[in-house]
Parts: sequence; structure tokens; C-alpha cells
Amino acid sequence: MSNESAMSLQPPDDGVGEISDAQPNSARMYDYLLGGAANFAVDRDAIADMQAIFPPAPHYARSNRGFLTRVVRYLCQHGIDQFLDLGSGVPTVGNVHEIAHQHTEQARIAYVDHDPVAVRHARRLLDPTESRVTVTEADLRDPDTVLAAPGVAGLLDFSRPVAVLAVGVLPFVPGNEARSLMTRYRDHLVPGSYAAVSHLAQLSMSDEQLAAGLDVMRRTPTPEQARTVDEVRDILHGYHLLEPGIVPVPEWHPDTTPTQEESQRSNCVGGLGIQR
Ligand code: SAM
Repeated sequence: MSNESAMSLQPPDDGVGEISDAQPNSARMYDYLLGGAANFAVDRDAIADMQAIFPPAPHYARSNRGFLTRVVRYLCQHGIDQFLDLGSGVPTVGNVHEIAHQHTEQARIAYVDHDPVAVRHARRLLDPTESRVTVTEADLRDPDTVLAAPGVAGLLDFSRPVAVLAVGVLPFVPGNEARSLMTRYRDHLVPGSYAAVSHLAQLSMSDEQLAAGLDVMRRTPTPEQARTVDEVRDILHGYHLLEPGIVPVPEWHPDTTPTQEESQRSNCVGGLGIQR
């Protein structure tokens, strides 16, 4: 599926941080779950350990990615043409700018990730003449830096509505910080802006499976946590939550109705709010 030759340990001088394969890393593990090649043996070993106790792990990743696709499409259909994608990840099939540009040619997308592999791959993927998309290496936990970064402040017009995407990333933000961070971003937005969130949640997995999965993530520099539906809803406080609310992500505006088993097996919930 993947091999080390896909990534160089001697990065080019492109202003992107150091890449190390000493520890597994969440961006590369997620890439591997989605069938990508931007990962090392240490990432694949961590996923193998996770899958030994929780076989549906790839279903989580695919369900989350499907939610992202449908949210971006929905937002374009509702007039949004500016996206701030926090924790954008390693590019894979159906990236936000590709989906958005299918619907809205002029859409602007500011990708932000703190992971050097994600950032380097995203920059490589982009046509150098592409002026509608930027990739910023930054930590979303520092909103002032993110919002002032040239790739964000120089691309997005915050006097018009922007959609903030925090898809699959807030499990890496502990405690109440996720809520307060989303408030900081919201305060920067005008009415008519949106925020989308998806999150790891214990739907079908047992306590033992969840604990073992989180143990594997503690090997990475960014341990993860699950949240309940109520906690995820609370992260979007201050937004008017759109139908169907915070639901298992396969049930959010599905193209085909998922079975109950598919929904629960995703172990991922999400929703979309609008600022009024
Ligand atoms: N949003 C994409 C998606 O849903 O397909 C990728 C999700 S992936 C599970 C999580 C991404 O969030 C990884 O690329 C990781 O590097 C990034 N990430 C985690 N913590 C972050 C932080 N504090 N700041 C910026 N990015 C972060």
C-alpha cells in the first residue's frame, strides 16, 4: 500500500519543519487509513496495533472524509466561496479545493496544518500558478498566528462569510480548549459564516477498544480523545446548528441512506453551524 520511498527524510529547503520517522504521527496514520502513501513503517505499525483491537478503524477515516466532502458541497451550494480548513491533513482523493472548485470556480481555500508532511504534500500537489489556494504550516491552537498568516489573511476576505472546517482535528485538542478555540475563530467571522466539526465518538466501540486505540495515539506527539454528542454540540455553541444536528457522520446529508450498523461503526459524529 505504501512505502518509505514516497517521502524523503532529507526535505527540500521549502520552509517546512523537520520530518521524523522516530514516532508515529496522526496525519500520516490517517493518510495510511485512507490508502495514501505519505506514511512510514512506524505509522503503519501503529495502525496495525490499533486495527488488531479495533478492525473498523479505516471506516472511521472514510466516514469522516465522506462527511467533509458533503459539507463542502453543501456549503458551495449555499453560497460559500471561502474556506479555512484547520487540520487539513495530507492531500488525498477529494480535497477541499477540488470539491469546492467543481461547484464554485472562484472559491478560495486556506489549508492549515501543523504537520510538515501534510504541508509539504499539499504544496507539492498544488499548481504553482494556483492563486485560489494556500497551505500554511501552523498550529490551530494559536488562532492569532493562524488568522494573521499570509496564507490566511492574504487569501480570505473576513468581511465576507467564511466556512471554518475543523474536521477530524479537534480530538487532538484537549479538554475545554476545543470550545474556546472555536469561539476565537468565530469571533473573527461575520454573520453568514459557518463552522463544521467532526469528532471521534464512542458509538459502537467498546470501552476496551476505545482505551486501546487512545493508547496507540499516545505514542504520537498528539494524543487523541473522544467526545460525546453533547460535548461536540457544545463546541459549536454560538452557531445555529443546522439539521440534522450533531449526528453520526454517515447520517449527515447522505447520498445514500446508511444502515444503522454503518452509522455506528463510523464512531464519528459531526455537524454544521451557521453564525447569525
Ligand atoms: N481534516 C482532514 C480530514 O478530515 O480528512 C484531516 C484530518 S486528520 C485526522 C487530522 C489532521 O489534523 C492531521 O493532518 C494533523 O496533522 C492535524 N492537526 C492535529 N492537531 C493540529 C493542530 N494543533 N494544528 C494544526 N493541525 C493539527
